[in-house]
Amino acid sequence: MVYRETYQGAYQVMYLGDDPRQKSIREETLKVMLELSAPGGAAEGCFRRLQSVESFLEDITPTNHESLFHPKPLPKESLHPKAKSGYIFDTYTIDTTPYLNYLLARFLNAFSLGKPAQRPVDALIICAGLGARALGGVEDKAMHPVRGQRVLIHAPWIEKAAGLEESPGRDTYIIPRRNGNVVLGGTRDVDDWYPIVRPETTEDILARCLALCPELAPPEVRAKRAPTIDDLRPLIVEVGCGLRPARDGGLRLDVEWVTNKKDGRQVPMVFNYGHGSSGYESSWGSADVAVSLLENALAGKADN
Ligand SMILES: Cc1cc2nc3c(=O)[nH]c(=O)nc-3n(C[C@H](O)[C@H](O)[C@H](O)COP(=O)(O)OP(=O)(O)OC[C@H]3O[C@@H](n4cnc5c(N)ncnc54)[C@H](O)[C@@H]3O)c2cc1C
Repeated sequence: MVYRETYQGAYQVMYLGDDPRQKSIREETLKVMLELSAPGGAAEGCFRRLQSVESFLEDITPTNHESLFHPKPLPKESLHPKAKSGYIFDTYTIDTTPYLNYLLARFLNAFSLGKPAQRPVDALIICAGLGARALGGVEDKAMHPVRGQRVLIHAPWIEKAAGLEESPGRDTYIIPRRNGNVVLGGTRDVDDWYPIVRPETTEDILARCLALCPELAPPEVRAKRAPTIDDLRPLIVEVGCGLRPARDGGLRLDVEWVTNKKDGRQVPMVFNYGHGSSGYESSWGSADVAVSLLENALAGKADN
């Protein structure tokens, strides 16, 4: 099947920050993703289960929250020269286009949607991403873009994902998908709204990724000589960029009451946006919190 692929790497890395809400949201998400992607799982065909090798600038020790990834430390002698620690762990990557279609089909099956104009509004759920900055009634100016550019190549011989923290906030990553395409990245340009590809960034990404993983070049090339980035160019499927919906202060997951101007009724408005660079890997966990907020708000209203 031929389809246009989205810009996200869409894989789950170990969350090594210390925000307890983030830890639990990501852990819940990982559990659901492991269920969906298991052999015979409901969306198995949208995922690839694999291992990832990640290297960090700091000496990092995973906690119990990371145990589902089964992390194993890399031996000191095989660490990248820039890294103070590194782990190989089990994870998954998502073929985002079929996965988003799977989610849409599941949503449509779960609800019988009537004509919107004929139904009274009981609640509002705001999942507008970067759009929350301009959405009337929300206008959250803490929302801002973190631009990411990536190169998609076809290299079905790549079996492991890899990531290297090059400097604080700057990562190089290699993310193989089930369909044989590999996402190469990345960039993190804070407050950069530039919507199209920068050719010099493409060169930089290819150079960094090849340095991290020379196996990206076709095996027949590597059998003869050391590869260069020119060996990657024929493999390019597409180069693209996107804007991560980041928020000063982090993810917004809360509820407010608003008055419906038509009939004066109070309705709850649940916010679930500002996922930045982790919208996939925190999706199911934050949706769970949003549903609880909604149910509690509606139950509280029924009690009044
Ligand atoms: C290069 C790159 C790599 C990434 N890699 C990863 C990764 O490896 N793992 C990961 O978890 N995440 C990754 N992400 C981040 C991930 O894509 C986002 O966190 C995720 O898409 C956020 O989802 P969302 O639904 O909140 O927002 P969005 O995906 O931005 O969706 C918001 C939707 O709301 C709609 N909308 C906005 N305003 C309105 C309005 N007024 N009315 C109606 N609709 C509106 C928009 O059209 C859009 O469809 C990456 C992103 C980029 C750019």
